[in-house]
Amino acid sequence: MLVAALTRATRRLLVTASVDAEHAPSTFFTEIAERTTGLVRDEEGVVRPAQDVGDLTLRGLVGELRQAVVLGHLPQATQLQRRRAGQAALILARLQRAHVPGADPATWAGGQASATAPLVGPGRPIRISPSDVEAITDCPLRWFLQRKGGSTPASAAQSLGIVIHALAERAQREELRGPALMEAFEAELPRLGYPPTWLGRQEAERARAMVERLDSYLAAVPGPAQVEVPIQADLLLHAPTVPAGACPASAPGEGAHGKQGPGLPVILAGRIDRLELIDGPDEPRKARLIDIKTGRTPHADPEHHPQLAAYRLALEAQGHEVIGGALVLLGKEPGRDGATIISPKGAALAPSPDPDTGQDWARELVRTAALDASGTALQARSGKHCRTCPVADSCPVQPEGRRVLA
Ligand code: SF4
Repeated sequence: MLVAALTRATRRLLVTASVDAEHAPSTFFTEIAERTTGLVRDEEGVVRPAQDVGDLTLRGLVGELRQAVVLGHLPQATQLQRRRAGQAALILARLQRAHVPGADPATWAGGQASATAPLVGPGRPIRISPSDVEAITDCPLRWFLQRKGGSTPASAAQSLGIVIHALAERAQREELRGPALMEAFEAELPRLGYPPTWLGRQEAERARAMVERLDSYLAAVPGPAQVEVPIQADLLLHAPTVPAGACPASAPGEGAHGKQGPGLPVILAGRIDRLELIDGPDEPRKARLIDIKTGRTPHADPEHHPQLAAYRLALEAQGHEVIGGALVLLGKEPGRDGATIISPKGAALAPSPDPDTGQDWARELVRTAALDASGTALQARSGKHCRTCPVADSCPVQPEGRRVLA
């Protein structure tokens, strides 16, 4: 066979062999190598294998070509890598035509969607919560992956948030104020597991400061309020009206002029931290909605806060008159007047529809979130929030997540 191969080659002949604990090249191999390239043995006469030349099997070749294609398409790829990617793609195309396994990009993991069906079937209602609306608005992919098991265990900050929310509910129901409220918190403090170190004591002090801000807020709003109020609203959300002549990108399943469609059925369901009843307990329809936050970072545009806007929409659909909405920022230092910070100031949530432009931004926001959360694809929407994203290693936008495409 060797003689046949040697004598039939017309242009180029590649002779290879492998060496390991159980295999050695035939003597013909070293003879050919010595006659053609010279040095194949070391000074003790032992056959010296070449430097790693990669996997010389067909499967290995396909793997190396695929790697070259992927590397050449990274944003930071060099000119050489881009050129190699082009050459590798040509060879892969030839191998694909010859039905070599793994050469067809359609068979690459991540190259094809694992499912093509929409998350919610056509015509079926899309169920989301107001906090979903906020999460989807930031990044639909992160929202989805976190819901499907991509969450990390509750952090210390999240555990504190749970304790403070439970305390705010008890404070309202049991009229706990001042020392009684702090006493109730001290009883819960061991659950947070702060270590007996300087840092642990700092964290406990920070938590106590939040309880004081909660107490100060409750003292400032002595009227009746409902807490942990369940809401559910069935909405039919139409696409915004399109000016004549304009032709915007249409949403999935719609014509360009979505208003002509049947509307998108959305079930908006969740729980509101506080509903402050402006006209007393006998008039529960007129209220200000409050969401308690223990984080320190304020929202960039609190007047158009997605979660508050979605709560308001749901309440209005249930017949409430919402006269304001705000986040109570317990994690933030009070202002000069010592008052707990609420955002937006004066609970002045922007009206929707906007009185100047007529744009019903709140309905559009919820509608867009519902569409983003129900289609056949989920968008990775990058931004500042990527810095703390717990699923970045599954995100094609991030370098560490690119393996999902290759
Ligand atoms: S890294 Fe950014 S773009 Fe990617 S999933 Fe996370 S938030 Fe979305």
